[in-house]
Amino acid sequence: MTTIAHGLVAVQRRIETACTQAGRVATAVQLLAVSKTFGADAVADAVAAGQRAFGENYIQEGVDKIAALRELCPGIAIEWHCIGPIQSNKTRLVAEHFDWVHSVDRLKIAQRLSEQRPADMPPLQVCVQVNVDGGANKAGVAPDALPELAQAVAALPGLRLRGLMCIPEPAPDFATQKQLFDRAGALFHGLKAQGLALDTLSMGMSADLEAAVHAGSTLVRVGSAIFGARAAKAG
Ligand SMILES: *Cc1c(COP(=O)(O)O)cnc(C)c1O
Repeated sequence: MTTIAHGLVAVQRRIETACTQAGRVATAVQLLAVSKTFGADAVADAVAAGQRAFGENYIQEGVDKIAALRELCPGIAIEWHCIGPIQSNKTRLVAEHFDWVHSVDRLKIAQRLSEQRPADMPPLQVCVQVNVDGGANKAGVAPDALPELAQAVAALPGLRLRGLMCIPEPAPDFATQKQLFDRAGALFHGLKAQGLALDTLSMGMSADLEAAVHAGSTLVRVGSAIFGARAAKAG
């Protein structure tokens, strides 16, 4: 087995253990392998080990990798998730190449993604990113503004709103981590109570996936625990 295959097994085991402890079925939580900064060969290793969903932060890097994987793994359906910040001049690349976007936090970006989604592709699957710990300069819509944004995104024809994503600040202990994830959980249930048909709560990373699973995460985004430590990258 490759190191990456071992990493995948280890993370799946962490997810299963957390689900058992939280009284959830293990199939309730999907693993998104975050391959940012790692090469196409690393993704191909993970595909060979059975992983099919990958997250990328940097859009051009992601688009290049999507093309490379088509060559490396022909005929295998891979699901690509854009999880990083999106500037207006990058929406077309995202709309034309990715299956999912987790980082929608402004209506203008959502409108562009919807307009630019090619008609022969299924709607882009979207999570709205919410800023649960209130950092003023952080990505994510403020909780107060979330319901209006979510309703507007849900109405766009090129998008399908699936749920919420959050990236809380690293917290020192399980209880603090869970408290922040619980806020996202409460917002998620609030939107469902307003009639939005949501099924995806994207939260939890290498350092805090257990707390996220306890708070109801349905998709954890894990990079370093699978692929190893990343080299520092500017931007
Ligand atoms: C990098 C990144 C991850 C994965 O982080 P790890 O700590 O390597 O698991 C998850 N989500 C987002 C949005 C990221 O940028």
